[in-house]
Amino acid sequence: MATHELSEADALKQTILKDYPRLGPDSRFRFRCHSGLDCFNRCCADVNIVLTPYDVVRLRRRLSLGSTEFMVEHTVRPFTKEQKIPVLLLKMRDDEAKTCPFVTAQGCSVYADRPWACRMYPVGVASSQTRTRAGEEFYFVLQEDHCHGHGGAAEPEGRAGCECGRGGVGTPAALPTGRRQSAEPPSGDREWSIAEWMDDQGVADYDAFGELFKEVNLHPMLLDGPPLEPRKMDLYFMACYDLDRFRRFVFESRFLQTFDLAADHVEQMRTDDEALLRFGLDWLRFALFAEPAVKVNPKVLEAKRQALEAQKR
Ligand code: SF4
Ligand code: SF4
Repeated sequence: MATHELSEADALKQTILKDYPRLGPDSRFRFRCHSGLDCFNRCCADVNIVLTPYDVVRLRRRLSLGSTEFMVEHTVRPFTKEQKIPVLLLKMRDDEAKTCPFVTAQGCSVYADRPWACRMYPVGVASSQTRTRAGEEFYFVLQEDHCHGHGGAAEPEGRAGCECGRGGVGTPAALPTGRRQSAEPPSGDREWSIAEWMDDQGVADYDAFGELFKEVNLHPMLLDGPPLEPRKMDLYFMACYDLDRFRRFVFESRFLQTFDLAADHVEQMRTDDEALLRFGLDWLRFALFAEPAVKVNPKVLEAKRQALEAQKR
């Protein structure tokens, strides 16, 4: 899949929904990725790695970069006219192969903090659910010709796998566009259940933030409404990804007078990116969709009420 070609990702999504076996957490598959394979590192080039907010928290901390610096150096924001959900991609190198900036001859140089999509590969999550629409959600094992780590076909469970609630941040980012990569063989040439694989890959923390991210990304006003206007788009990228800028916005404006926040929560957000991100994802539902996900200071509400009364007179 060529970098930035999200239409190809959409086509892949349709193929998966139509043709791939529906897997559940107990479905089993064989897979082993290691440096002895002839495909080693081949998958870490010319690929769309969709970054979640928690991916950026982990990666920029690992690289000792500010969030703005990370965004400028390592990300791109593809945009198509039909696109409803904003997307942030890992920027590939500007070389012929479009290699990932973090791949080395020994494998992934950010392995402990690699993105969710890279952890999950070759397992993916497909979902047609939204916050207001029931839909199907299932796991699948992506079979790509260039990947020689597969040891056998996945075994689907008895019925379409809608029972799982885990795995990622919603439809577009749930496609397994990333790669699992390590200089060391993983736990051996073995059969995995989907649940064992996810546990081995350490996706639980990512999934917890993914659930909060879904509350924004799968919001009906985003999915069914007009595209976000530029100001709201800027707020989206700031609160989801550019936490240094969001922190300045919170602490260096009238923000803390506007919202009713506990003092210890405010102090935590001063230094803790995870706490700030959790709050930011809630606040976005207020800022983008006017949902009461954060509490406005009663004095501010009263002042607004009085101003409206004065206008009417
Ligand atoms: S596994 Fe590492 S090197 Fe490979 S694409 Fe992901 S971040 Fe890049
Ligand atoms: S993920 Fe697949 S293509 Fe990539 S190195 Fe492992 S086995 Fe090879």
